[in-house]
Amino acid sequence: MRRRADDEETSAYLFCERCQQMFERVLIQECSYCFKDFCRNCAVRSGNTAFCSKACAEAWFFAEADEEEAEEEKRKP
Ligand SMILES: [Zn+2]
Ligand SMILES: [Zn+2]
Repeated sequence: MRRRADDEETSAYLFCERCQQMFERVLIQECSYCFKDFCRNCAVRSGNTAFCSKACAEAWFFAEADEEEAEEEKRKP
């Protein structure tokens, strides 16, 4: 994956893809599901993980559940 060239003047700020605004880097998180950057205002928390949207939080929850089920299937003789 190619990294975007960091402009030193703007590198302290990141763009929230949800509300289309710039925020300090420390206020921006990456969605665990779709990897979009989002700010604290847009964050949807689910357990210990923050997501950019409720849809991602739910999709992540179901993806995790599917994986666990698949793992158990494999363990059965
Ligand atoms: Zn936002
Ligand atoms: Zn997301």
